[in-house]
Amino acid sequence: MESNILNIFNCGFGFGFMRLPYLDNGKIDFKQVEKMVDYCIKNGFNYFDTAHGYLDGESEVAIYNTLVKRYSRDKYFLTNKLTGNYFAKKEDIRKVFDEQLKVCGVDYFDLYLMHNQNSNSYPHFAKCDAFNEAIKLKEGGKIKHLGISFHDNALYLEKILNEHPEIEVVQMQFNYLDYNDPSIQSKLLYEVCKKYNKPIIVMEPIKGGTLVNLPPKANEILTDLHNGSNASYALRFIKSFDQIKMIISGMSNFDQVKDNVNTIKNYQPLNEKELDALKDVVKIFHSMHLIACTGCRYCEKGCPKNIPIPDIFACLNNLKIVARWYSQMYYSNLTKNRGKASDCIKCGLCEKSCPQKLEIRKLLFKCKEEFE
Ligand code: SF4
Ligand code: SF4
Repeated sequence: MESNILNIFNCGFGFGFMRLPYLDNGKIDFKQVEKMVDYCIKNGFNYFDTAHGYLDGESEVAIYNTLVKRYSRDKYFLTNKLTGNYFAKKEDIRKVFDEQLKVCGVDYFDLYLMHNQNSNSYPHFAKCDAFNEAIKLKEGGKIKHLGISFHDNALYLEKILNEHPEIEVVQMQFNYLDYNDPSIQSKLLYEVCKKYNKPIIVMEPIKGGTLVNLPPKANEILTDLHNGSNASYALRFIKSFDQIKMIISGMSNFDQVKDNVNTIKNYQPLNEKELDALKDVVKIFHSMHLIACTGCRYCEKGCPKNIPIPDIFACLNNLKIVARWYSQMYYSNLTKNRGKASDCIKCGLCEKSCPQKLEIRKLLFKCKEEFE
């Protein structure tokens, strides 16, 4: 009998293995990750998320070392994803999948997502018959449930859901800053999922750290509420939407785990004053015209000039928040051994993989003007 997908979302909050802590020697800090995993499991949060490409493949290795090796399979739920750039044809898909099982050290995934669906990637998945391959994996018991992670507009989501009724769940970006954003369309995407009765998994609940490291004026607004960390307001905002069954946070240290777990465990809906405060924070962000980069690093992989795109954008954003000399110094260090903004040859490869649909070439030109 097929299990109910909602069962895997019972705890409501999951640990995304995409921004793990590192040691000075450049290796993942497994000891700290173990502590983070243990804290989650001890508190009843047993949902974990990875993908083949996260942290250049090291995310799945970390899943094996810190979770799979240390806990029996019935103690956690594990989600993995099929990413478009790992297969060129239908026959490659099974090989990629088997490799994912092997590296993670498991016999099955509780949920398997067709990763980063959008108008660029979806035709490739369709051409390679990826959805049917995933259905076969499900029939063979290798995956328990099938879903998509999605980055595009609401119309495109409807198209995919219509063409693939086998999709059980949609993972999407949703946070208080993106809620009414015309390009991310979180609110509209939410409504489509509700219409099609698809449970939602939220990724980027704090927008890659953006909603923690707030601009000073915005930070002051939330600090003055005296009711928790900046991250806690972001999580409480999301938790109030009933179609959202799971929130995944890509946590980078033990303190973040502790703070997030305790927020969800002791969840309190936001009151009017707090909701108004978040609206004010959004207004501040909009007035600053910051680049809406989440630091996912999808853009960097194919860049022929090895340009550290998200870090360069962080420098430009920081110009509006910290002293100029600091951003300038950071930019110089950053581009010593890697490509500078001016090295961009405008091939456009990066823009094809940016889930935030940023005009990376134009933005890099702006960075060049500021820093070089
Ligand atoms: S457009 Fe520029 S930044 Fe983007 S991939 Fe090409 S060279 Fe790299
Ligand atoms: S520019 Fe786009 S793809 Fe690159 S890190 Fe930022 S959000 Fe991700």
